[in-house]
Amino acid sequence: MNPVPHHRLAIIGSGPAGLTAALYAARADLAPLVLEGPQPGGQLTITTEVENFPGFPDGITGPELMDRMRAQAQRFGAQCLFQAVNRVDLGSRPFRLEADAHAFTADALIVATGARARLLGLESEKRLMGHGVSACATCDGFFFRGKEIVVVGGGDSAMEEANFLTRFASKVTLVHRREAFRASPIMQQRLRDNPKARLVLNAAVDEILQAEGELAVRGVRLRHTQTGELWEYPCEGVFMAIGHEPNSALFRDWLQVDEQGYIQTRPDSTATVVPGVFACGDVRDRSYRQAITAAGSGCMAALDAERFLEA
Ligand code: NAP
Repeated sequence: MNPVPHHRLAIIGSGPAGLTAALYAARADLAPLVLEGPQPGGQLTITTEVENFPGFPDGITGPELMDRMRAQAQRFGAQCLFQAVNRVDLGSRPFRLEADAHAFTADALIVATGARARLLGLESEKRLMGHGVSACATCDGFFFRGKEIVVVGGGDSAMEEANFLTRFASKVTLVHRREAFRASPIMQQRLRDNPKARLVLNAAVDEILQAEGELAVRGVRLRHTQTGELWEYPCEGVFMAIGHEPNSALFRDWLQVDEQGYIQTRPDSTATVVPGVFACGDVRDRSYRQAITAAGSGCMAALDAERFLEA
């Protein structure tokens, strides 16, 4: 039997957090192993233009930004494998990771598995993602200047994103499946007071309608959740704001997570409850969820891991 390859540091995940951790760890001569996961490059690979990452005054596409981050980490010795980890054993050191085809051990581990926007699960949503459908108002709102937008959801994120999008859009319609909102009253009121905003309640998006002959959105088909009535509602953009889910399922037996599944770390640190395991990026961040904040916490995790390994 082949021996299980051992690494001083393994990183699970390859979004801005994982690849920034890899860059810093590689420059500290730790030759980190990066197991990229099921979505190499992370959530940014499903956005189009990234215009708010410092250092790119003309913008950069999400996939290109992630390719550059990977190349920068590899230049200093990070080993990136396109494999997804299916099982971890963090009960003793070295930690054991089982990926698609191989197992690995590591003295320290950085968890950077990110989060995923909850989606409706429609085929049209998948097809038009990045072409009129988005799950990130901060990333993509700017491209909808003067256009009509539908935002789906009834929580604080939906209210916040709908309000934010009125900066660009000519009209924003919030579509919510019930009459009562989960969002706090103040966030609801802010939207109700916004002259560019409208509410459509007791309605679910049944289908996202594609423009004829091009990969673009022309509207949504709505279904009244009580009567079942269907009708078409024109718009050029659809933003999903129905919550996020941290990709933490693999670690729930070992690490502490909050009630929504976000990995908990010590204050002012990326250290988890297991010595030698660090968490960074969206898998531990329920409030900021930006590429730059994820990258920053990836840097912190690498520095924390380096100190741990030195000690
Ligand atoms: P959330 O509170 O879980 O709300 C999700 C919303 O999406 C709910 O209204 C839910 O409808 C709806 N939804 C879920 N699945 C759906 C589906 N398949 N189809 C249609 N609608 C669906 O999530 P969130 O708004 O992202 O907020 C997450 C946490 O962050 C909350 O604790 C929130 O307070 C916090 N947050 C705070 C702020 C702020 O204070 N500035 C901003 C953003 C987020 P139902 O209500 O019918 O279940």
